Amino acid sequence: VKLIYTNQNPILVGNIKNIVENSGIEVELRNEYASGGAGELSPIDTWPELWVVNDSDIERAEKLVQDALNPKNAKEWRCSHCHEMNDPSFDFCWKCHSEKPH
Ligand SMILES: [Zn+2]
Repeated sequence: VKLIYTNQNPILVGNIKNIVENSGIEVELRNEYASGGAGELSPIDTWPELWVVNDSDIERAEKLVQDALNPKNAKEWRCSHCHEMNDPSFDFCWKCHSEKPH
């Protein structure tokens, strides 16, 4: 179990949660309701936290978070096999189905 994302804004955390969950990764939201009745707690203690449940998913989840936070990093990529340009969201070349180079 590992914390992969936390933010003061629960909407942003929920957004990241959806992205990670949609990739079939099991996540857990902690402090989800803390911001509602925080009272005496310091703000940093009440940030919602997104945790990955399975250790085997951590690497993949962290990459998804990175991609979600840095959309400018999402660039078209050129297939190393057939040299076609591919959309950033494609994991495989649309033409020859070669895997996206890392
Ligand atoms: Zn290709």
